[in-house]
Amino acid sequence: NLKNGMYFGNRYESTAAASDAPPAETYEYQAEVSRLMDLIVNSLYSNKEVFLRELISNASDALDKLRFLSVTQPELLKGGGDLDIRIQTDKDNGIINIIDSGIGMTRQELIDCLGTIAQSGTSKFLKALKDSKDAGSDTNLIGQFGVGFYSAFLVADRIVVSTKSPKSDKQYVWQGEVNASSYTIQEETDPEKLIPRGTRITLYLKRDDKGFAHPERIEKLVKNYSQFVSFPIYTWKEKG
Ligand code: ADP
Ligand code: MG
Repeated sequence: NLKNGMYFGNRYESTAAASDAPPAETYEYQAEVSRLMDLIVNSLYSNKEVFLRELISNASDALDKLRFLSVTQPELLKGGGDLDIRIQTDKDNGIINIIDSGIGMTRQELIDCLGTIAQSGTSKFLKALKDSKDAGSDTNLIGQFGVGFYSAFLVADRIVVSTKSPKSDKQYVWQGEVNASSYTIQEETDPEKLIPRGTRITLYLKRDDKGFAHPERIEKLVKNYSQFVSFPIYTWKEKG
């Protein structure tokens, strides 16, 4: 089906995305990011569950930003005023979705936020981890600093971030794989994935970590974190 694919030179590649969407563009991570990801994956493997705390705290930050901006720009809430976090699990396939209706990210923000380290919390963590000669002190460090988005690679092989900012007409998809030096960004073309505003993070769990997609396990972790979050967090129960 030619309509659903694209020609690259004389090679025909079908894309999962529909018709006229521009192809995915590939970007290299800033060198610091690759180093941080290595450090996280190698030093926090016994605290893997921190990934959920980090993603919930990012969702909560995104909702806070939207709530703050909507005071002077109420039009930002168009498409639904609900400010919440939804966590959906698919235990059979080892997939977790974390969906927020917050401020979202533009294409440029995806590059700035998920490809570079501009975040003070993360770079402080990096420094503290480097300074810490004592291997046993990791747990304290985790409590002190947010280790951030990349901690999702503790449990996921592949992360897909589909996000829509009120500043942009378009929704964009960021995709990254564990141990890779680059990531891709493209337009969201799957009509089922389009959202009025906010961010949907999909984690494709590593073979040994698929247990995190069990609803009971997620619910238990969410209960621990939700007391620090001022927005409702809903968890899905699978049918049957
Ligand atoms: P920090 O939260 O300390 O800034 P993170 O690594 O956790 O660092 O996140 C990096 C950045 O990515 C955030 O500052 C934010 O700009 C962006 N980001 C991450 N998750 C989301 C989200 N769910 N919605 C909007 N922006 C997000
Ligand atoms: Mg964070």
